[in-house]
Amino acid sequence: MNCGVIDMGEKVQVATTWLQSCSGCHISLLDLHEELLDVLDLIEIVYSPLMDIKEIPRVTVGLVEGAVANDYNEEVLREMREQSDILVAFGTCACFGGIPGMRNLHLLQDVLARAYVETESTVDGIIPESPEIPALKQHVHAISDIVKVDYMIPGCPPPPQMIKNAIVALVNGEEIVLPTKNLCNDCKRKHDSMLIPKRAFLTEAVQSAPELDKIDRDKCFLEQGVMCMGPATRTGCGSRCLDANMPCRGCMGPTPDALEQGAKIVNALASILPAGGLMFNEDVVGTGYRYSLPVSIYPHRADDLEEEVNEEENEGDEQ
Ligand code: SF4
Ligand code: SF4
Ligand code: SF4
Repeated sequence: MNCGVIDMGEKVQVATTWLQSCSGCHISLLDLHEELLDVLDLIEIVYSPLMDIKEIPRVTVGLVEGAVANDYNEEVLREMREQSDILVAFGTCACFGGIPGMRNLHLLQDVLARAYVETESTVDGIIPESPEIPALKQHVHAISDIVKVDYMIPGCPPPPQMIKNAIVALVNGEEIVLPTKNLCNDCKRKHDSMLIPKRAFLTEAVQSAPELDKIDRDKCFLEQGVMCMGPATRTGCGSRCLDANMPCRGCMGPTPDALEQGAKIVNALASILPAGGLMFNEDVVGTGYRYSLPVSIYPHRADDLEEEVNEEENEGDEQ
């Protein structure tokens, strides 16, 4: 697709914002270092959390970092959508809900109680309530749950070069094209016996990444008994963790053909582990859904149930 909206004679106007996030995706943009100057030759950032401008102006490209966790996030996101010709989900929190989305495993009141009342260092805690405090949503959402998203740049954070390539593509009126395969496709580690189930995976092999001295830098992590999300994760990060002799944690999110990232890794492990082996993974949810729970089946089902309950209650009130 040629976006066809960009006047090549002028710098492209860009707005950026962050919602429920850590600002890491913006930092990754700054991590382009000198190459940032090449990008700034092409675009003008006219609105950003890094600038003191109150209103979002009309722009060609809007980059949204972070998930939607409260009413104010949603308000800002809707305004960004309205003001942007092209809206880009910038980073894994925006694309898939990311780390903040892990709270979808819990009821909202339990999350608030844990944060404000139950922490070990809290004495006489109360849950703050004020019309000036944006209400937390029952669930954290990827931004595509709320508005139409034109493109995404995944990663936690997205690699600087991927951000640059995406911006240059948009400036040239081209699509942002992401890799579609999983990380194992690009992995240089030997992984020739991954599909042979073996008892050693659970017994004699090393079990955790901290046992770094025992990890063979040339061999597949899974084959050494160390959990690696490669089979369920989109490639494109440059294998950053693998090169540092750390297993993939899945931060690029699922491949486009995956139903969901968690199911994909469970499926992959089931083909490697001896029967029942999955029971030995103490944190299947934290492993498989760490970055993508809000776009997985579980929270949507929970939303449906919530809606059903509300509808039933409304019907009961009307009778
Ligand atoms: S994707 Fe990662 S780096 Fe970006 S805001 Fe979310 S947690 Fe931070
Ligand atoms: S599971 Fe991890 S280490 Fe093994 S081939 Fe895939 S990405 Fe590489
Ligand atoms: S190796 Fe995995 S966790 Fe590490 S940057 Fe790449 S996708 Fe993210």
